[in-house]
Order: sequence, then C-alpha cells, then structure tokens
Amino acid sequence: MTTSLEQAAGPRPTTPSVLISGAGVAGPALAQGLARRGLRPTVIEVAPAVRPGGQAVDFRGGTQLHVLRRMGILDQLQRVRTGGSPMTFVDADGRRLLHLPAEFTGGDLEVLRGDLSRILYEASLDAGAEYVFGDSLTSLTETATGVEVTFRHAPPRTFDLVVGADGLRSNVRRLAFGPHADHVTHLGHYAATWSLPNHPDLGLRLHPGSGSVGHNTPGRLASVAADHTDPTRARAFLVFASRELAYDRHDPAAHQRLLRGAFAGLPWKVDRLLDSLGAADDLYFDSISRADSPAWSTGRIALLGDAACGATIGGMGTGTAILGAYVLAGELSRSPGDHRAAFTRYESLLRPYAEERQKGGDRTGRFLAPSSRFALHLRNTVFGRRRVLAWMLRAAKDATTLALPDYPERSDEPLNSSFTEAD
Ligand SMILES: Cc1cc2nc3c(=O)[nH]c(=O)nc-3n(C[C@H](O)[C@H](O)[C@H](O)COP(=O)(O)OP(=O)(O)OC[C@H]3O[C@@H](n4cnc5c(N)ncnc54)[C@H](O)[C@@H]3O)c2cc1C
Repeated sequence: MTTSLEQAAGPRPTTPSVLISGAGVAGPALAQGLARRGLRPTVIEVAPAVRPGGQAVDFRGGTQLHVLRRMGILDQLQRVRTGGSPMTFVDADGRRLLHLPAEFTGGDLEVLRGDLSRILYEASLDAGAEYVFGDSLTSLTETATGVEVTFRHAPPRTFDLVVGADGLRSNVRRLAFGPHADHVTHLGHYAATWSLPNHPDLGLRLHPGSGSVGHNTPGRLASVAADHTDPTRARAFLVFASRELAYDRHDPAAHQRLLRGAFAGLPWKVDRLLDSLGAADDLYFDSISRADSPAWSTGRIALLGDAACGATIGGMGTGTAILGAYVLAGELSRSPGDHRAAFTRYESLLRPYAEERQKGGDRTGRFLAPSSRFALHLRNTVFGRRRVLAWMLRAAKDATTLALPDYPERSDEPLNSSFTEAD
C-alpha cells in the first residue's frame, strides 16, 4: 500500500505508528517486521522508487539465514542468488596473480542488492506497510506523546516513534544527533561501480559466474565482471586510495572527473573502462567511510542499519541491517508501551555484533587496493594459500553467530528461547 502523508482527523489510534526514513534494506525489513506484529509503519524514501543497482551483497552464518527464514523471504532470495562472485587479480599482461573463490567473497547466500531491496519492499507491502516516495524529513520535534515531523513536501504529521534507516549519511541522525562530520569517518579510499557493454573489445572472456578480473597498481584497483543476470552487460568496479576530497556528492560529472584523474595512464584495460564512463547512467561513487553514533536512540527516535553503525563496503552491513530490523521489530512489539526499554535492549543485543562486522569496512580499501608494491605482493602471497583462505572462512562464519531471541510473530504470543544457528 502506498499513501500520502495526510494525517487522518480525530484521535490517534492506539497501535503505535512508526515513521521509518529510508527504503533501502533496513527500512523495508523493519517495516515488514512491525506490520506483521500489528504496529503501523510508514516508510518515507527520498528517491522516486525503491533504488535498483549496487553490486552483490552477502549473508553469512546460521543466524542471518535463520532470520531471513523467519521473515519468510529466504526461499525467494535463494531463487535469485548469484552463486557468488569469485575475484581474479592479474598483472598488466593478464597473467593470474591471485584467485579468491566464490565462497570467500560471497558468503552463504549472495544476492544483488537491488533484488534484496525489491523483495523486502514487496514483503513489507504484503504485510501492510505504507510507503511515501520522493520526500524527506526536514525537522523532528519530540513531545511527551510523540514526534512532530515536518517534510519537504507533505504537511506536518505526528508519529509515536521515528526510525532513521536512511544509510551512512542518515538524515534522521543529522536532525536528531548532529552533523555528518561528527559521525562519518573517511577510511582513505573511494569506490565506484557502473555498468557497460560486455564487449569482445574488452579483450576479456567474461560470463556470468566467472566473477571479476582486476588489475592493481599501488593504491588502485580496476576490475570488471560480467553482469550476473545479463551476459551482454558487464560491471566495472574501481577503488583508489585518497585523502578526503571536496566535491559535489550529487554530481556524476564530478565523480567521472575524479575517476579519470585517479586512473589516467594506468595499464591493462583501464583506458577502455574509463572510455565507457561517459555513457554510464548508473554510476555509483562514494568514499569508503564508516558511520558511528554514540547512542542508537534518543527519546522516541532510533537509528538502524548503516545509519547506526555502517561502513560503505565490506562491512557486512546488509546482514547486520537485517538482524537489527528483526530485533528492533521484535523488541518494540514485546513492549508496545515502553519504547525506551525496547530501544535499550535492541542496542545492547546488536551493538557489539555490529561494531565487530563494521571493522571489515576499515580493511576493505587496504585489501582491494594495497598502497605499495610490497603490500600488493604480501596480499597476493598470503591470500594465495588455500589454508589461509579456509581458516579465514571458518573465522568469518564463527564471527557471524549471535544468540537472538526467537521473537513471536504476534505480541500476545510468549517469547521463545534464544537461537544461535538455523534450526
Ligand atoms: C544505490 C545503493 C547501492 C549500494 N551498493 C552497494 C554495494 O554494491 N555493495 C555493498 O556492500 N553495499 C551497497 N550499498 C549499501 C548497502 O545497501 C548497505 O550497506 C546495507 O544494505 C545496509 O542498508 P541500509 O538500509 O542501512 O542503507 P542503504 O541500503 O544505504 O539504504 C538507505 C536508504 O535511505 C534512503 N535515503 C537517504 N537519504 C534519505 C532521506 N533524506 N530521506 C529518505 N530516504 C533517504 C536512500 O535513498 C536509501 O534508499 C548500496 C546502497 C545504495 C543506496
């Protein structure tokens, strides 16, 4: 169901209303969990529709898979799984230096971010969530009984609770907790991805499932892979080391200039990838950054997903966002009249796990684009050893296990004991 934000006349209904900012991954997941348990979620998204695009994102470990099953979307996700995205690093002449297999890069279940977002959106609509696209919050004023919200376009309205699920540069966090500069830390790299024709001129035989081929120079990675669903298309993925740059974050021409400047004159297929930039209409360019918030809630306002504890790529933010949505929905439904207790339990259950996952984001840039020839050689040698990869996979799996309450679907059912693995 989509809706306008006009407030109905008369007394407010007794079931709590929750405004969720952001229809990425965390927002629709929370909306589904709340609507299924009888609360009234409204999701507001600045984009005109659920945003497609992005690369593959993955889920790791029994806890994440169990929660997806409980949400009723695991089978649908299994049907659109990519099968993983192996990565091969080559020298300037195309000779293989390092190969990372699909299970290393893709976890237990890898799907395209756009597919995940769409499936969550549809599941939350089926559960009864409301959506408003093309709008954004402009102010939040907490009163004793609710939060008065003003919008860029819609008339003001009061909600019982507000949740910021609006990503690394969260609008809700800015309004309720202060400016981005206090919460977002640049981690020393920039990343870009865009689609291009999978043309023989590239000189690479790319097909869905073969994964990406990439070439490093110190502080740079240029790579390309066949599109997972359309073999006639490919997807470029570039990473470069840089101090924080001043540019217009909403101007694709500025992003293209920075990429051309960072990669000009480099060997391998770099020129051909840069040539395709001009025609790209889906360029995603961002710093590799992390977001931290000293508290995940204040009064009736809470943060979820990347808004609370995110890292641009490699921080396993998607699995954390799903677990966070599951816990927040479960806790709010457990204590409908006591949001403070629910927010406190949500943060204490999730924060240590989320902070541990976030550390992966700190390492991503250095791993993908090591800064010197020596660091490149070291990465290729260490990760080229099967035993190291097997050990890292085991460690990653153990680290994604978390004991969570098995929340009932309805607030009047008893709380079951906790689980840690799929059952
Ligand atoms: C287009 C896109 C592509 C991505 N690609 C990748 C990728 O390739 N690999 C990867 O690991 N991660 C990617 N991510 C990030 C990944 O989705 C998140 O790290 C993770 O899934 C956590 O999800 P989230 O819902 O917290 O944040 P996000 O998925 O970032 O969703 C936040 C949502 O909030 C919306 N929003 C932002 N500002 C406002 C506002 N003022 N008002 C209302 N809504 C607002 C955004 O449009 C977005 O839909 C991408 C995110 C986006 C938006």
